Amino acid sequence: MQDVYHYWAGEWRKPQGTVSLPVHDPAKAEQVAQVFVADASEVNAAVEAAHSAFRSWRQVPVTERVQPLFRLKAVLERDFEALARTITLECGKTLAESRGEMRRAIENVETACGMPYLLQSGFNEGIAAGIDEFSIRQPLGVAAILCPFNFPGMIPFWFVPYAIAVGCSVVIKPSERVPLTMQMLMQLMQESGVPAGVVNVINGGRSVSEALIAHPHVRSISFVGSSTAARNVYTQAASYGKRVQCQGGAKNPVVILPDADLETTTAVIADSAFGCAGQRCLAASVAILVGEAKHPFGDSLRESAVSRKTGNGFDDVQMGPVISDASRTRIHGLLEDIERSGARLSVDGRQHDLASGYFVRPTIVEGLREASELLRTEIFGPVLTLVEKPSIEAALEFVNSGAYGNMACLFTRSGEAARRFRSEAEVGNVGINVGVAAPMSFFPFSGARESFFGDLHGQGKDAVRFFTNEKVVVERWPKEWSRKF
Ligand code: NAD
Repeated sequence: MQDVYHYWAGEWRKPQGTVSLPVHDPAKAEQVAQVFVADASEVNAAVEAAHSAFRSWRQVPVTERVQPLFRLKAVLERDFEALARTITLECGKTLAESRGEMRRAIENVETACGMPYLLQSGFNEGIAAGIDEFSIRQPLGVAAILCPFNFPGMIPFWFVPYAIAVGCSVVIKPSERVPLTMQMLMQLMQESGVPAGVVNVINGGRSVSEALIAHPHVRSISFVGSSTAARNVYTQAASYGKRVQCQGGAKNPVVILPDADLETTTAVIADSAFGCAGQRCLAASVAILVGEAKHPFGDSLRESAVSRKTGNGFDDVQMGPVISDASRTRIHGLLEDIERSGARLSVDGRQHDLASGYFVRPTIVEGLREASELLRTEIFGPVLTLVEKPSIEAALEFVNSGAYGNMACLFTRSGEAARRFRSEAEVGNVGINVGVAAPMSFFPFSGARESFFGDLHGQGKDAVRFFTNEKVVVERWPKEWSRKF
């Protein structure tokens, strides 16, 4: 069984904490590692290492700070398959999904390699006689990165490459449920020549997050996880006067107009709803069938759910297990509540012959009352609820009435409807004939309402702004002070 180590000041550290948690292969329900929760002294040591490294790292020219990232890109490509396999092992998603995740991680490294350009800011010559004004972006300090379980390879990279390229140092806390991928990533960052103390890893759960948030040397918090935790982290970090960005949960509606292409739309929505076993923050969870879309799309989505090949992510399947026994039990409980409320499971994923592992097969819910809280509850499993609406207006009203605002998608051949939808949907990420509207690394990974607390998001220029302070300089050089040359 693999040991999970902390890493700070350039060295791997055997955990001293006494509380340990199991790490499972969710496809086999077998323990593959145990992770020890860092104690207060370990958290403090990691932050002190980051704080001390920051003083010298910020002085390194940006053109040199990006060199480890160029090397990191090369070693991530070299070990791409091993990384994907580790994600599948601890997270359960299919190998194809894990490869897709690592591709997204690498894209963020590539984008951050352009930091000399991204860090440029404005200069106005002659704002008054003999006076110029300009701004410079300076690194904030030690950044804490708190990660969820569902993308152990990609999500840390929404932040880490940008933070270190602008001159910050970081302490990463992976999810305690999937700490193994970060062990590999940290080894690769070490191999790439990231100096000691610039990137540090500390393992554990909520207690470790809270110790990092409270630590006086930690200047910013980047959090991704459920909305309840996101709100807590946001409130707590703000009370310490820290900069904070918190991506939260989701309940993503996808709207199907009757003119949408049946085959593509079905394939894309099924992949969005059931891919990664529905454990994506951009998973489609409510399909709104407008008018005549009801019959063809209802039928095709049900068929697609029934025929989805589910099993161990290392095999030739389209969907793996959910993350844990607790998660499967929670999903089953919500499905029972849905049935008790009078709705029906037209495809019931609780029934299957997959013996081992935390499997829930694709599930379709129909007839859920509009007033039911369950229609708005994040299930975070392979469950798609079908809802009927008479018009695009009614569909938009539904999209904008939920608490979450992570993503909404429209499927249509009408440019006019698409323009209206993208303008009026009150969400952070919009898809038009796209089921997982995941922004590329050079766009912010957006989010709105209960899906995002803060201002600047992860990825791209938002990340550059988040990890820097903008300082404005006004300079006067009067002619009469200068010698004549
Ligand atoms: P989670 O909230 O349980 O945990 C996320 C991280 O925070 C973990 O590292 C955990 O140890 C820590 N944590 C848990 N509770 C905490 C608290 N109260 N205070 C401080 N830290 C805490 O989330 P999860 O189950 O790991 O991930 C799934 C959730 O993340 C889903 O709700 C999903 O929608 C969301 N998610 C959102 C995005 C996005 O971009 N909006 C992306 C991925 C996942």
